[in-house]
Amino acid sequence: MAVTESAPAALSAAHEGILRRQSLRESAARTYARSLPIVPVRARGLTIEGADGRRYLDCLSGAGTLALGHNHPVVLEAIKKVLDSGAPLHVLDLATPVKDAFITELFATLPKQFAEGARIQFCGPAGTDAVEAALKLVRTATGRTGLLAFTGAYHGMTAGALDASGGATDVRVTRLPFPQNYRCPFGVGGGRGAELGARWTENLLDDPKGGVPKPAGMILEPVQGEGGVLPAPDDWLRRMREITAERSIPLIADEVQTGVGRTGTFWAVEHSGIVPDVMVLSKAIGGSLPLAVIVYRSELDAWEPGAHAGTFRGNQLAMAAGAATLAFVRENRLADRAATLGARMLGRLQGLAAAHPFMGDVRGRGLMIGVEIVDPEASDALVPPPAPDLAAAVQQECLNRGLIVELGGRQAGVVRLLPPLTITDEQAMAVLERFADALAAAERSAKGRADSRQPH
Ligand code: PMP
Repeated sequence: MAVTESAPAALSAAHEGILRRQSLRESAARTYARSLPIVPVRARGLTIEGADGRRYLDCLSGAGTLALGHNHPVVLEAIKKVLDSGAPLHVLDLATPVKDAFITELFATLPKQFAEGARIQFCGPAGTDAVEAALKLVRTATGRTGLLAFTGAYHGMTAGALDASGGATDVRVTRLPFPQNYRCPFGVGGGRGAELGARWTENLLDDPKGGVPKPAGMILEPVQGEGGVLPAPDDWLRRMREITAERSIPLIADEVQTGVGRTGTFWAVEHSGIVPDVMVLSKAIGGSLPLAVIVYRSELDAWEPGAHAGTFRGNQLAMAAGAATLAFVRENRLADRAATLGARMLGRLQGLAAAHPFMGDVRGRGLMIGVEIVDPEASDALVPPPAPDLAAAVQQECLNRGLIVELGGRQAGVVRLLPPLTITDEQAMAVLERFADALAAAERSAKGRADSRQPH
């Protein structure tokens, strides 16, 4: 079906009206709503249908939340079962059979060494709440306050999580270089760049005049998502684990975006085999409903009763939907599927990059894929600068072709693909075809604009 066909007038008017009212009534902080002016009314799997009748392939997946796509039957069934059972929907942090089953399923998926004897704290419903809880936990347990975090990190929008993120302007956090090949902070890339970053970290911690008192913890994402899809090398992660363990610094793995099969293993820390002290989990664990927890080594459990509270820690529907999602991903080996299909998609995109110099770098892990859009003619620097305008044009051309993608990266120059783990081979092909078409269209218009600026 042609996705660009014009919608019937009545549908189109309703759609326009909703968007107009949104821009009048909602805050200036609107994000996705600006670049994706669609009005979803129905959704199933990879597909969203808008109020104007148009259909889209959704490779944003609720910012990586929808491991099984929209409205997966096992998720709907789990929600209906709770509703039909007459169970209370709001229970604060009381024990319930639904919660008990969720914890059992979650612990079954976690690395054995980590899960054995671990504790879980249910937090307020968003990822950022769980990040706050993790920071608070390690501060209480160690009696220290400082924090190590990385350039380009994204941990959320509440005060502590924001401090830990790369965009912070606060100085209470010691910022360390996150390794990356394409724009290596040391200009060397590969394993050597990561090694230099590790040495810097070690040196800073051991230098009595380094200006960094012993911190309460280190927080990192095994693959930076919002930061531009940057997978941490496994060796580097192992080094971070060694460095922190040797100095009794708790290591917090923020798996809010990388968890539940997304990167090709159930949890992204499994690639390197590291065992963190705290894991921050949200997004996919709620099966599309809000849910956030931290799981941590019991020795860190120095909290007093009520040290971390919150009214909405007992979302029964999210726990049921989440348990069903975790079980489905585990039973159907969707992490393996993400690894295989992700590698294939990455290969195709790298092939495409060979023909398009403005596709500066294609990278990812599993079904967390990023294409860095650059301006190859802007300078003769070894690595061309990002081209956020062109990236935005690619996103727009994707939307025109019925494909929803996300932008990320330091300058919003990285086009991100986060399809559900249930995406079929045929759907993946359709996504790649639309993406290739969109790239070509964005390139043509950029060229057209450049040509019209040339003196004739
Ligand atoms: N950590 C990571 C790694 C994330 O990607 C996000 C959200 N993109 C968060 C934390 C914050 O989650 P939330 O938006 O649910 O607060």
